[in-house]
Amino acid sequence: MERILNFIDGELRPPVGNAWLDVYEPARGTVYAQLPDSDSRDVDLAAIAAQRAFATWNALGREGRSNALLRLADLIERDLEGFVADESRDNGKPLSLARRVDIPRAIANFRFFATAILHFSSEAHLMDDVAVNYTDRQPFGVAGCISPWNLPLYLFTWKIAPALAAGNCVVAKPSEVTPYTAYRLSTLCNEAGIPPGVLNIVHGLGPKVGAAITAHPGIPAISFTGGTRTGAEIARVAAPMFKKLSLELGGKNPVLVFADCDFEQMLKTTVRSSFTNQGQICLCGSRILVERSIYDRFRDAFVERVRALRVGDPSDATTDLGAVVSKDHMEKVLSYIDLAKEEGGRVLCGGERVVLQDEMSNGWFIAPTVIEGLGPARRTNQEEIFGPVVTLQPFDDDADAIRSANATPYGLASVVWTSDLQRAHRVARQLQAGIVWVNCWMVRDLRTPFGGMKQSGVGREGGLDALRFFTEAKNVCIKL
Ligand code: NDP
Repeated sequence: MERILNFIDGELRPPVGNAWLDVYEPARGTVYAQLPDSDSRDVDLAAIAAQRAFATWNALGREGRSNALLRLADLIERDLEGFVADESRDNGKPLSLARRVDIPRAIANFRFFATAILHFSSEAHLMDDVAVNYTDRQPFGVAGCISPWNLPLYLFTWKIAPALAAGNCVVAKPSEVTPYTAYRLSTLCNEAGIPPGVLNIVHGLGPKVGAAITAHPGIPAISFTGGTRTGAEIARVAAPMFKKLSLELGGKNPVLVFADCDFEQMLKTTVRSSFTNQGQICLCGSRILVERSIYDRFRDAFVERVRALRVGDPSDATTDLGAVVSKDHMEKVLSYIDLAKEEGGRVLCGGERVVLQDEMSNGWFIAPTVIEGLGPARRTNQEEIFGPVVTLQPFDDDADAIRSANATPYGLASVVWTSDLQRAHRVARQLQAGIVWVNCWMVRDLRTPFGGMKQSGVGREGGLDALRFFTEAKNVCIKL
């Protein structure tokens, strides 16, 4: 069986402890490869290699680093179909989605940060005739990057690209559930001319490898995307060490549908914002709040569209939803559907596992599920489910909609559907969310700040904020 290897100091290596974990294909429920069950010894080796490579990487200058990252982007593009197939096999997502979104956006991450660093400037402040201050931003050495399974290569590159562009070396851990695209990326680094030790990828379990990166004294900054509970654990360890921390965490995103919206456009996009990637995108809308006057019309039309979605083989071009990422995750999502019923919710469609034929009969598929009848305080409307499950709730007016939208501990993303420009601005200002999309969803300009409020995270990544995060700012004050 194929074995995925760590990438440390420019070499593909087995883990020091020679222990291995199984990698599953969600659509078949079978093991297709093994990955290193690494531990702190592998992280130590990676951190040492990264510290050693720091001077070489910086000596390349912005342009040299930019060129290396652009070459890496070109190599991913050259091998696009391989990456697409791996991403779909690892994660269960439709091949068409990996081809349309995940891999192109991973390439875009490298290209964006590789060119942004060329134009990155810092500030100067003149104090009349007293002094001049300028901000010297320097990379700090080694960054720790830890990413989740839902958009494996996209979110992995979202962290490592700015860290590398800014001049740091990296010790990174992809999710143990979906390691293959990061592994494939590691096989291209030498060809791209990235010096050994600049990017190190250590595979394995969060509580072992992730925890070792978090606690490592030679890694002064941690950029993490994942669940809120894991983020809290990372903060608990890293904060007393005074590490720089960026935490992109969970969400329970509201979609606000006002009666004056473009109904057809809203309906089409809301089906997508609910069920793309089986609802396993941190930005998916999971609570759909609908103005009471159009609630029945919306519910009936929405349920009809959702029933028409095709759950199936991820490699089939007609498939809308593939498998969810793991057996554990499938069971978690199904348990939330049971909870919704216990809480008095009505399942309008879906609500169960889908069993496909033949070699996919053991795959982890769930029918897209719509639930109504639950108020904002119910656990179903409070806790992140992170699967193909949405709830519907009516609202009476703007204030009611905003109250319900903000009534969770999370604050990642939100969507507003209205044709009233003033209402759009007014509501957007009052939503407690790091992103408000008005009459659209998942439209991303990488120059904008990205991140959540409340328990959805701290620190903003995206655009120049990410480059700033991955540098240490020093003020130099010169007396005139
Ligand atoms: P987890 O928090 O379980 O894991 C994220 C990463 O952290 C994985 O690589 C995991 O390793 C690792 N990890 C687990 N425990 C520790 C630990 N103690 N110390 C350090 N690292 C650890 O999240 P999921 O992978 O389940 O991803 C889904 C979550 O990610 C959802 O909550 C979703 O909302 C959130 N997310 C947020 C986004 C945002 O931009 N705000 C974007 C995408 C997802 P392992 O895989 O081995 O467990």
